[in-house]
Amino acid sequence: MRSVEEHRRVVAGLIRPRPAVAVPIADSLGLVLAADVTAPVSLPGFDNSAMDGYAVLADDVAGAGADSPVLLPVAEDIPAGRTDIPTLLPGTAHRIMTGAPLPAGATAVVPVEATDGAVDTVTIRAAARAGQHIRRAGEDVTAGTTVLRAGQVVTAAVLGLTAALGLPELTVVPRQRVLVVSTGTELVGAGAPLLPGQIYESNGVMLAAAVRDAGGEVAAAPMTGDDVDAFRAMLRRHLPDADLILTTGGVSAGAYEVVKDALGGGDGVEFVKVAMQPGMPQGAGTLDGVPIITLPGNPVSALVSFEVFVRPALRAAMGLPSTERPRRTAVLTEDLTSPRGKRQFRRGVWDPDADTVTGYGPPASHHLRWLASANCLLELDEDTAEVAAGTRVQVWDLR
Ligand code: AMP
Ligand code: MG
Repeated sequence: MRSVEEHRRVVAGLIRPRPAVAVPIADSLGLVLAADVTAPVSLPGFDNSAMDGYAVLADDVAGAGADSPVLLPVAEDIPAGRTDIPTLLPGTAHRIMTGAPLPAGATAVVPVEATDGAVDTVTIRAAARAGQHIRRAGEDVTAGTTVLRAGQVVTAAVLGLTAALGLPELTVVPRQRVLVVSTGTELVGAGAPLLPGQIYESNGVMLAAAVRDAGGEVAAAPMTGDDVDAFRAMLRRHLPDADLILTTGGVSAGAYEVVKDALGGGDGVEFVKVAMQPGMPQGAGTLDGVPIITLPGNPVSALVSFEVFVRPALRAAMGLPSTERPRRTAVLTEDLTSPRGKRQFRRGVWDPDADTVTGYGPPASHHLRWLASANCLLELDEDTAEVAAGTRVQVWDLR
């Protein structure tokens, strides 16, 4: 049997980054920059007022105070967005709003609060320091400066800066496009009535969400019966749009194992047993150069396998940080058993405040209900057969 670590290495080695592309900035949120960003313009782009008030010559109001007001005629009104730049003559003031361009010659802005707010002749009751309440061109960003670095994740604030610089696109590591194929003749899509022996498809819906949650993009999430030709045709149809294929089901030891039957002919996909529970039957390889990871069909096995093998490799291929779920330790509240020789991943409820973790639901791999309300995976290593309550164990934080 292959170890968990070995299979993680195999999967990680298959999933490759896509070439960097320039995308409209609105499409880049959450992706990683593939190139440094140099400012094409300065910020601010021009000297402007930091306050609503009056642009003046500081010398003209040097003597102003509460008991010694200075009166100045208001020669111009400059709202934000005015695009001509008037000249301030000595002995006059210009009414000016926040963000409006400073008139030529002005050396200070007196806030409206220190005046009577008049529009013809303004009464100023405070002196102004030269440069006061003026935002200078380039004091935030000087044109030509590197303002963002390759490897940085695009956040709302990154987009804000990019937009302020007038850049329409960012060069990023694109999302991996993942084809999620569910196999099983018993599967029925939501909304249709079930015949005896049929079940509603759930792996495809769940893994598509897990792919998006990991930062990937779902190319398609089709479902196919256990028919080798239909399965192959489905793969062929979607292959050109996929950077990675995930399948579920059809890889265990029974008959009608469609994935194994279709891909097991030595064509680049290797089917192995991995020493873990759940998730022992696994497969990995390439199909026409596209990596394919075949996950087991039981829903808990499928999602745990995604967490253990696929999610870290998928995030790494997109250059994203936190490729691994945070690992913590907590004190077990109950006795547990684990199969010797296999790494066990139980669903758990972790209480970080109490520093405890409780195994949640039975270990068998069809118990979706417990999976849905667990907040961690509880990891018990290969050498462990029994763990007593009170033991400190490792958990994967899924929150
Ligand atoms: P298999 O590995 O194909 O034998 O599937 C193992 C178990 O998982 C069976 O009980 C299947 O019915 C179930 N299963 C497989 N694929 C899905 C799916 N996409 N949605 C829900 N259950 C599934
Ligand atoms: Mg099946």
